[in-house]
Amino acid sequence: MGLVGVTDVLALHGGPPVRTRPFARPRTIGNEEKRAVLEVLESGALSQFVATWGPEFNGGPRVRELERAWAERFGVKHVTAVNSATSGLYAAVGALDVGPGDEVIVTPFTMSASATGIIVYGGVPVFADILSDTFCLDPESVRQAITARTKAIIVVDLFGHPAEMDEINAIAREHGLAVIEDAAQAPDARYRDRSCGTLGDIGVFSLNQHKTIQCGEGGLVVTNDDDLAERVRLIRNHAEVIVKDKGDHHLAHLVGFNYRMTEIEAAIAVEQLRKLSRLTEGRIAAAALLTRRLSGIPSMHPPVVRPYARHVYYMYAIRYDAEISGVPRDVFVKALKAEGIPVTSGYVEPIYLQPLYHAGRSRWQTAPRSDGWPPYGRGTCPVAERMHFAELINTDLCFAGLTEDDADDIGTAVEKVLRHADELGRDARTVRS
Ligand SMILES: *Cc1c(COP(=O)(O)O)cnc(C)c1O
Repeated sequence: MGLVGVTDVLALHGGPPVRTRPFARPRTIGNEEKRAVLEVLESGALSQFVATWGPEFNGGPRVRELERAWAERFGVKHVTAVNSATSGLYAAVGALDVGPGDEVIVTPFTMSASATGIIVYGGVPVFADILSDTFCLDPESVRQAITARTKAIIVVDLFGHPAEMDEINAIAREHGLAVIEDAAQAPDARYRDRSCGTLGDIGVFSLNQHKTIQCGEGGLVVTNDDDLAERVRLIRNHAEVIVKDKGDHHLAHLVGFNYRMTEIEAAIAVEQLRKLSRLTEGRIAAAALLTRRLSGIPSMHPPVVRPYARHVYYMYAIRYDAEISGVPRDVFVKALKAEGIPVTSGYVEPIYLQPLYHAGRSRWQTAPRSDGWPPYGRGTCPVAERMHFAELINTDLCFAGLTEDDADDIGTAVEKVLRHADELGRDARTVRS
């Protein structure tokens, strides 16, 4: 702060960056995971699923141990381990009997797999808009997207903050809809003293490499509903060859997949689950440092947390106000990156803008409606578009072990860039004209 001369030249313009050291992200895979994996290797049984109706239909000892531990940890009756959250979301959509022409309402501001399960089953994704503070589904927009063909709602606890579950569940009850909660980013997040992932009819977690806890690739499907749990287990393991022996004639229409988790992944996940509390608390502490450092800067709005929510900060999403700073967001982000701070503009392009929703639509939508419903064009969800294209700045610099010095470097870099607002604003205008 207050430096003048060469150190105050923007790194973007050839000056020295504020931060040259990399940020030290924690390594969470340790001896516990190594030992657990070795035990599996020594046993020789790397996966114990068998696709016949019998004791091994639901997998081996580690898979079952993971499911038991997860059920206890999150206070939910049934847990089904699968090989990714994507598989879990597909299984959840399949378990709800979504079929050709059924509409499912989903947020567009999420990883694509939150919505593609609908398409896999011949359903039609209908996108509702998000709230501009938590970036989760806006219940009012969900209400407006309901038609006579709506069958379910898929909500996402985005960046680790719970969606508006009471309102969404109330709308679902009113219209007889099911709710899938994609909690891939929100293990250990809480909503009014309940665990995220357990708030709808079916919840899905992810254990991929980038999530708070991981086993390389993996996922979990959770539900308190006996029937839905059974359907998910069938879909996980080749339903069609099981239903006859099992006597589930009413489920003869289910198509199974191989969504089975290996014993190796399960063994790692069991150890990772033991570390979840510590890693979550570390993220929350890191977010507190960042918020304290950034909250005095008028153009930066740190993440909002509802009074009844526990945010677990899979990402730290800042709303940036270019009107106040005088620097367009993307120019600001470029300058901040040059200072050694890894940030990105927005999150993902609202998913209805992806090529799949345009080039492929007539192939997967059984009866595309002539009135263009549902819309997938620009302007469909204005808030999601504004957040992605103009206001949101994202960083994953929000992990256990982030130090006060780290947070200070981030704040110092932000202040340095903003001190050069005139210069950067001028650059931007020149580029545009
Ligand atoms: C990561 C993620 C997924 C997919 O998880 P995988 O385990 O990689 O399949 C789905 N939804 C959201 C919101 C995610 O962040």
